Amino acid sequence: MKVAVFSTKTYDRQFLTDANTESNHELVFFESRLTHDTAALASGFEAVCAFINDELHAETLRKIASKGTKLVALRSAGFNHVDLHTATELGIKVVRVPAYSPQAVAEHAVGLILTLNRKYHRAFNRVRESNFSLNGLLGFDLYGSTVGIVGTGKIGVCFAQIMKGFGCNLLAYDIYQNPLCVEMGVKYVELPELLRNSDIVSLHCPLTKESHHMINTESLKDFNPGAMLINTSRGGLIDTKAVIDALKSGRIGYLGLDVYELEGSLFFEDLSDQVIQDDIFGRLINFPNVVITGHQAFFTRNALQNIAQATISNITDIATGRPCPNIILPEQAIAV
Ligand code: NAD
Repeated sequence: MKVAVFSTKTYDRQFLTDANTESNHELVFFESRLTHDTAALASGFEAVCAFINDELHAETLRKIASKGTKLVALRSAGFNHVDLHTATELGIKVVRVPAYSPQAVAEHAVGLILTLNRKYHRAFNRVRESNFSLNGLLGFDLYGSTVGIVGTGKIGVCFAQIMKGFGCNLLAYDIYQNPLCVEMGVKYVELPELLRNSDIVSLHCPLTKESHHMINTESLKDFNPGAMLINTSRGGLIDTKAVIDALKSGRIGYLGLDVYELEGSLFFEDLSDQVIQDDIFGRLINFPNVVITGHQAFFTRNALQNIAQATISNITDIATGRPCPNIILPEQAIAV
């Protein structure tokens, strides 16, 4: 199949090319994001391969459909950025990579917790400047602390396993209870109870209409004062302005983010010689108790290999008419 691959970096090209050796799809790599303005690049391509910050709104889908695209192959698990109703209407199939390395994301969430707690980022800079003072680096034992997990699917369960290893008490909130978590001794409670009783809250649920801004001015009032909030899931789960207020008042004591509501115009690019126009983001990065990474939780060798192999296999399934286990059904529509 002839595939227009958007939002590609050197590493995407390398892993996808390796995975494509036997299937021999015609992959054409574009650095640019897929948006309404760049959709013309997909002209004449049966398939478009997209990543998380590509825009698959109705307008873009109509444009690519009119130029012959019949398949959207996502290189991601999340599909909140795709208008599935419009895709179905236009006869475009959408496939994704439901799991590639839940461990990669769970481990990154733990990395954010350790960094915020023991302040490795500050210690690293101090020692390089021969400043060996410990003032301001005081942390707390994870052992015995309570961790609240919101969403106990593939990533949430890996995260629970790791935090159990640290000796934490585990609470969880999910619409379904995961038997693996129950077996591990995780206690399921309602969201307000989880927020009230957790020293650390980590978000691992998808972004849907229901979960959009689940952390907002109201729910922040339930937080244990000074608690830590970690989000490696999707930026839209958090009302960022409300979180800034909560950081200023001390309602939350630490914030670790790998995702951000308006990350589309920032993440994955080197903007180091530009003035960032997003004042909310600018405010966030100036708190001493905030650590932000640019959507890198998935970014391990293992995960990239799995993403590339599953993406090529999904495209081959559709190209050869084989049933594809990773097709997204219209009833799964969760675009927000
Ligand atoms: P999953 O589908 O296995 O698990 C999601 C869990 O969330 C399920 O148990 C589901 O019941 C629960 N859930 C759904 N709606 C909920 C709600 N409103 N409140 C509480 N729980 C709810 O998904 P996963 O593989 O564990 O991935 C979780 C999320 O992580 C993805 O949706 C994606 O947004 C994000 N993710 C981020 C990265 C990254 O690099 N930062 C990488 C992969 C995935």
